[in-house]
Amino acid sequence: MVADCLFCRMHAGQVPTTKIAENAHAFAIRDINPRAPIHVLLIPKQHIDDARSLDWGHAEILAGLFILAKEVARNEGLAERGYRLAFNVGPDAGMTISHLHLHLLGGRRLGPEG
Ligand SMILES: [Zn+2]
Repeated sequence: MVADCLFCRMHAGQVPTTKIAENAHAFAIRDINPRAPIHVLLIPKQHIDDARSLDWGHAEILAGLFILAKEVARNEGLAERGYRLAFNVGPDAGMTISHLHLHLLGGRRLGPEG
């Protein structure tokens, strides 16, 4: 846990949030500024800065993250139509919270940039 990290604080219960799904490794919340009809953030419970800091030791966490994404997509009715999973990495990608998170976007036909 990183004390000044919003997602760590959400996981620790220090910041109120509504988790729409959860497993041993990750939890899911709705993006407060959705860029598609369905926009969910999948967040590992362990603090990882971003995709640049991943190594083999994170393999199980990443599996948990993607499996949670699959379950959220199914629950949101997106499994057949399709959806996008995306990581933003660093400032040029618009990453605003330095705690790895996977965007799940869907509910409309997505363009190449989302
Ligand atoms: Zn964190």
